[in-house]
Amino acid sequence: MTEDLNPHHVARRQFDLATPFIGDLDGWRGMAEWLFQPEQILSVTLPVEMDDGYVHIFHGYRVIHNTVRGPGKGGIRFHPSIDADEVKALATWMTWKCALVDIPFGGAKGGVNCDATTLSKNEKRRITRRFIAALGDNIGPHTDIPAPDMYTDAQTMVWIYDTYHMMHPGQNNLPVVTGKPLDLGGIPGRSTATARGVYFVANHFIEIGAMPSLNSLDGVRVAIQGFGNAGRNAARIFRDAGAAVVAVSDSRGGVHDPKGLDVARVEAHKDETGTVVGALDNGKLTPGELLEVECDILIPAALQNQITAENAGRIQARLIVEAANGPTTPLADEILADRDIKVLPDILANAGGVVVSYFEWIQNLQNEQWEEHQVDELLAKKMRRATEAVVTERRTLCDNLDEYRIRWEERVPNAPKLPTPSYRTAATAVAVGRTRATAESRGVWP
Ligand code: GLU
Repeated sequence: MTEDLNPHHVARRQFDLATPFIGDLDGWRGMAEWLFQPEQILSVTLPVEMDDGYVHIFHGYRVIHNTVRGPGKGGIRFHPSIDADEVKALATWMTWKCALVDIPFGGAKGGVNCDATTLSKNEKRRITRRFIAALGDNIGPHTDIPAPDMYTDAQTMVWIYDTYHMMHPGQNNLPVVTGKPLDLGGIPGRSTATARGVYFVANHFIEIGAMPSLNSLDGVRVAIQGFGNAGRNAARIFRDAGAAVVAVSDSRGGVHDPKGLDVARVEAHKDETGTVVGALDNGKLTPGELLEVECDILIPAALQNQITAENAGRIQARLIVEAANGPTTPLADEILADRDIKVLPDILANAGGVVVSYFEWIQNLQNEQWEEHQVDELLAKKMRRATEAVVTERRTLCDNLDEYRIRWEERVPNAPKLPTPSYRTAATAVAVGRTRATAESRGVWP
């Protein structure tokens, strides 16, 4: 079976699975289209002088998906897979993510099609500056606020800030971008926020009894695909919580020890050689094999479309917690549901990054400096509340499934039977429902 892996089609399928569960269907169709279509898609051509003097043409995108609940918010990634549809999907997920954790932002995302692993620091700087200059006033502290994502970091955020500030001198521009370093308006705990959020969600899900086979994270076997910001910090945080991190991987491959890896040793090896491969003499894996190792919790923390119809039948974890955006395809979701493997979706599980970005934005607007313990306490509260909202929503939807099915069949004759809602569908329904409520109370302009 060939699967449609276009991320924007995946986002559409997830949306369509959730809309039947959003109450009061009258007039919903046009509203649904309004909420799904991106508000703005910018595509820019970036001529950049490379270190060897050659002028290379890069393509950059920034999509604002929806600003009903607040200005656009979302990262900028540098990756060879970037195109308009990928950025559209990622921006859509940002809208749902911000609504789900209840922060006053809409969704946006940006990206430049490039292979960051082959670029020098100066080349990366010139690409970033040229990209931000090309976006001009389409970003701003109250319009659209970028942040880090794959292959961009605090240094990239400094270049974004500096470029914007050169174009808008004489005002407080710190809130134009989040994920900045501490000595330039950054907030303590931003770099570990995504992984902390993943941990709070997984831990709380277990704490409230949603995973009857697990009592706590103590001794639980965790496998992590991806050893970038989210994956690496997650390895450390889950180890500190008593879990056994049995396997980790990066884009080159992975290492596996069923008894639990020495995370510090793997980190040291990664710092020294640029990869986790070879951190152990035995237990070599490919990134694909990592997904199939025997474990209790699987944390995909790399790219989209990793768990697909092809490998979902071989996943051995009982719980998947999505630190990456879009790692599981809709067909894989169906297979996992049939196998009773639970999936805590990206828009819930990885929302910690944007939550702490929100704290940084407030801090910058007020010219304040927050303490790390404040950040962590408020992050934990937000993530727990969102987890409870999703668990409760799913329970309510399942309890009333017959009613939803009858209403849906009356409205859409011959439609396939509504599947039992997953946690992803419940999370999407909460987020889209909130966005819709705000849109309706604001009304359609003019
Ligand atoms: N890139 C991160 C995400 O996908 C963070 C976005 C932000 O902080 O604005 O959620």
